[in-house]
Amino acid sequence: MTQVKLCIIGAAGRMGRALIRGAFADARFRLSGATERVGSAFIGEDLGRLASERDMGVKLSDDPLVALSDVDICIDFSGPAASLALLSRFPADHNVGLILGTTGFDANGLHQIRKAAENRAIVHAANFSVGVTLMAHLLRQASAALGEEWDIEIAEAHHRHKLDAPSGTALALGHAAAAGRGKSLDDLRLAPYVSGPEPRRTGGIGFAVRRAGGIVGDHDVALASEQEVLSLSHRALSRDIFASGALRAALWAHQQAPGLYSMDDVLGLSGAKGADHDPTP
Ligand code: NAD
Repeated sequence: MTQVKLCIIGAAGRMGRALIRGAFADARFRLSGATERVGSAFIGEDLGRLASERDMGVKLSDDPLVALSDVDICIDFSGPAASLALLSRFPADHNVGLILGTTGFDANGLHQIRKAAENRAIVHAANFSVGVTLMAHLLRQASAALGEEWDIEIAEAHHRHKLDAPSGTALALGHAAAAGRGKSLDDLRLAPYVSGPEPRRTGGIGFAVRRAGGIVGDHDVALASEQEVLSLSHRALSRDIFASGALRAALWAHQQAPGLYSMDDVLGLSGAKGADHDPTP
């Protein structure tokens, strides 16, 4: 069996550790490299220490070029600045694939990701859960079928450490709902509610955010007319769902031509797509 050689970026983080545990337990992968930020207390440590496993023979580095020297696929769940710095250091002729889970990029960051996908297969998703990917797919269909006068409300809840809001997943759901109506989210997005003279705009897409404790990630979508409400809900019970989705994407991306892909592509929910595809908000 050929093993896919992996490098984990942000290896000491919550997702990094889940990815190490998942890859270590799956014989289809070999952990070949891992990075952390300059100054991390874990630099030089064996990866096994991070995942409470036995020694793996791979040391954590603060230099992506060292960590990427012999890998097939890099998996990055770090932060927007770190991910863009990594992209800028990928040599153009080094076609290692990238599974990019970092959220919170601005328009310029998304442009840099599209450029980088000209030379390598990149799977970028705001949520690597198979369940959320299907939820977005169903939401697109529901919003297309139900009609423009149905209001759409997207509520999300996450742990107290999360920095971006609404979550990348909530925004991706908003894009899916708008796409179902052939519109952009900018056309339909409502400003946060405050008291005032104007009622809610019929058919708009609103967002609500909660941050508390250790909530892994809840997303609830209500599509409501004057007569009925349709609800779609997803609960992440463990962050391992994101790690197993990212590892599934890594196996898939290893076989793909350069281009920007989404989890829809990984799950076969879309037609063949390439570099012009933008799966992210
Ligand atoms: P975290 O803070 O626990 O981990 C991030 C890690 O990245 C930290 O250990 C940090 O030291 C490290 N890091 C920072 N700069 C770095 C650099 N230059 N090089 C290497 N490592 C660096 O955060 P987390 O909860 O693991 O989430 C990380 C990112 O993944 C966030 O953007 C989050 O929103 C996103 N996320 C996405 C999904 C998804 O399915 N797409 C799921 C969960 C989290």
